[in-house]
Amino acid sequence: MDLMKSGWFSEVSELWPGQSFSLEIKQVLFHKKSKFQDVLIVQTKNHGRALILDGIIQCTEFDEFSYQEMISFLPLCVHKNPEKVLVVGGGDGGVAREVAKHPLVKEFVQVEIDSMVIEQSKKFLPFMAKGFESPKLTLVVGDGFEYMKKHQNEFDVIITDSSDPVGPAVNLFTEGYFHLLKTALKPHGRTVLMPLASFLILCFSGVICSQAGTVWSDLHHVKETLKNCQKHFPAVKYSISSVPTYPNGQIGYLVASLDENVDLTKPVYRLSENQIEALSLRYYNSQIHEASFVLPNFFNRTLWS
Ligand code: SAM
Repeated sequence: MDLMKSGWFSEVSELWPGQSFSLEIKQVLFHKKSKFQDVLIVQTKNHGRALILDGIIQCTEFDEFSYQEMISFLPLCVHKNPEKVLVVGGGDGGVAREVAKHPLVKEFVQVEIDSMVIEQSKKFLPFMAKGFESPKLTLVVGDGFEYMKKHQNEFDVIITDSSDPVGPAVNLFTEGYFHLLKTALKPHGRTVLMPLASFLILCFSGVICSQAGTVWSDLHHVKETLKNCQKHFPAVKYSISSVPTYPNGQIGYLVASLDENVDLTKPVYRLSENQIEALSLRYYNSQIHEASFVLPNFFNRTLWS
């Protein structure tokens, strides 16, 4: 199907049957098939630049900050000491840009499967790809699934910024993936402090956050993903934010912890007004964090039944 007609790109997918969101396009900046997917970068008329993979809008300059800030700050702010972070996917650099901002993050690794997405984002999407310039980052080109098999017990927080469950991201929603996430987190997130001569062991349990689709069109899939996660994590929640250029204008985040007693809806790291300003946060704040877990009745009934 020709998705580009008379200067408009239309997002048609079996993931949201019978509907399609369109963007008016000024110029195609890049279009090529990589080893993994169709990579398209466009200059839109009113929404800045946009990255489109396999015909699905991944981010636009207009509203990407909502997604990038939420998927990063939700897990980072419920962990007491998110020193070492893993990002899976995220080849546009937007999540790297946000993770690098968090004052408690000392280092992070990002594993993106498709080098073409990284290279072309650096060239055409610098407002997101500036995340790759962080000295805290080690960037790896490879499969996140395979990477975690070799890097067990390492991370405080793992963020999965994946594309939708078609193409290379299909494995990133399975039960096997959540099992791997669990084992790639530090066991009980132990940090040993040695104030003077005495030892103090603090237990900080690992936290994950994954892109989890929208209930409006992906209800069955969101439910399946949450169930897969619940098999390995005792505390699991679903949060939503508004992203106008995503299907139905909304995206969900699955947030989970290895600690069953943790309240994922309450940030332990609360950002002050000054920090929000200094970190250039345009969407995330502690009130949004809490409110994003408050769901409509039909979401709740369906998701947790
Ligand atoms: N914000 C977007 C959204 O939800 O629409 C997703 C961002 S997009 C940059 C996701 C990235 O995940 C893509 O660049 C894709 O190549 C990468 N990806 C997909 N499967 C992967 C895997 N198995 N390992 C690592 N990266 C993967």
